[in-house]
Amino acid sequence: MMAAITAARQGAQVTLMEGGPRLGRKLLVTGNGRCNLGNLKLDSSSYYTQDPGRLEDVLGQFGARDAIDFFQGIGLLVRPKGDYLYPACGQASAVQDALRYELQASGVRQLLSCRAERVRREGRSGEIRVETSQGTFSFDRVILACGGQAAPKTGSDGSGYRLAEGMGHSLIPVVPALVPLKCREPYFKGVAGVRADAAVSLWQGKACVARERGELQLTETGLSGIPVFQLSRVANYILKSQREVEIRVDFLPDYGEEDMERLRLLREPLRKERTVEEYFTGLLHKKLMVLFVKLAGLSPVGAAGKAPGEGLDRVYGLCRDFRVHAVGSGSFENAQVCAGGVPLSEVTEELESLKMPGVYFAGELLDVDAKCGGYNLHWAWCSGYVAAMAAAKKGREDA
Ligand SMILES: Cc1cc2nc3c(=O)[nH]c(=O)nc-3n(C[C@H](O)[C@H](O)[C@H](O)COP(=O)(O)OP(=O)(O)OC[C@H]3O[C@@H](n4cnc5c(N)ncnc54)[C@H](O)[C@@H]3O)c2cc1C
Repeated sequence: MMAAITAARQGAQVTLMEGGPRLGRKLLVTGNGRCNLGNLKLDSSSYYTQDPGRLEDVLGQFGARDAIDFFQGIGLLVRPKGDYLYPACGQASAVQDALRYELQASGVRQLLSCRAERVRREGRSGEIRVETSQGTFSFDRVILACGGQAAPKTGSDGSGYRLAEGMGHSLIPVVPALVPLKCREPYFKGVAGVRADAAVSLWQGKACVARERGELQLTETGLSGIPVFQLSRVANYILKSQREVEIRVDFLPDYGEEDMERLRLLREPLRKERTVEEYFTGLLHKKLMVLFVKLAGLSPVGAAGKAPGEGLDRVYGLCRDFRVHAVGSGSFENAQVCAGGVPLSEVTEELESLKMPGVYFAGELLDVDAKCGGYNLHWAWCSGYVAAMAAAKKGREDA
């Protein structure tokens, strides 16, 4: 939608083909229905790609201010919440509507329920032929913005990757990202629903490969919440080559060793009168403490005063270093984005295909994904803008 509007504004005659019955369906589910459409602090460190240099080239062409101006210019008041940008009205549907109205005003021809099935370049004329569910169309320039395959119910079912492969592109392996992780341990049912501020780290052998801090959520099958979402792409790439990956959780991330000692001394008198379960009440969520007491081999109803010191040490240790093992993640259906895709090394800095000149790429179809915080949608706007500016310019030059 951004690419179509931008190209039309540059004077191009634009046809927008959408495989589904409506445009911009994914927008409605973003940001829990509020659409976190961008971020004031944009830099390449919030993004993942195999080619950070090329990413910076593209990001540098359309920044946070450009996105705010664009949306305010099409009628959508944008308001920051911290650094995160949202529509001021709090409705994701307003973002979809503003884009739809602007598309109509720009004179973009819209073909709905029109699925692109193949893209090829005509040898003699150099025209680009797009074979679709509604017949074959010819264009001077084509921008592919089919998304990845996350949340395929919204339309992005991975067909963009097949189109790219059909043009001779390779793919950085595509895995679900911003998705919950499934763990091997059998005891998650008992702690499902618990939420806690935690530091979460991912370990491959003896090396910590990533860490995040935020609100962790425990589910029936494993771990979820923003810090786990952010780690999931790394976990999924490791899981492609090995069966499980270790996750360590620190439920008391603000406490150093000395703080822990002081805390234990303060709590020591409680041991006299209380059972083990009572003694640990109030430290973390009750369900967690019950689990940790059991994992430490203590009886919850036994007298805390008689409980062995090593057992209590072990419970405190689990609060700081709870280790579980991810064996998989939620599927593409549950993922917010896909990691991997068309390599940036196979496109120019204007996102034109090096395999089939005249075809451009935008959005999640490319090997770019990001943390939570509006960065993924910013990439969609930014890359759509960059591809369309270049495609329209080249079209004018050729005319
Ligand atoms: C639940 C959820 C919440 C999210 N929340 C946020 C958020 O708050 N902030 C944020 O920055 N990001 C968020 N994201 C990620 C963000 O929505 C995506 O990164 C972004 O929408 C990608 O844009 P895109 O244009 O590349 O692809 P999409 O938005 O997926 O759009 C691709 C379009 O192409 C169409 N299409 C696909 N294949 C074909 C074909 N062969 N022919 C014709 N049409 C085709 C699809 O129907 C679809 O309409 C969220 C994602 C999900 C699933």
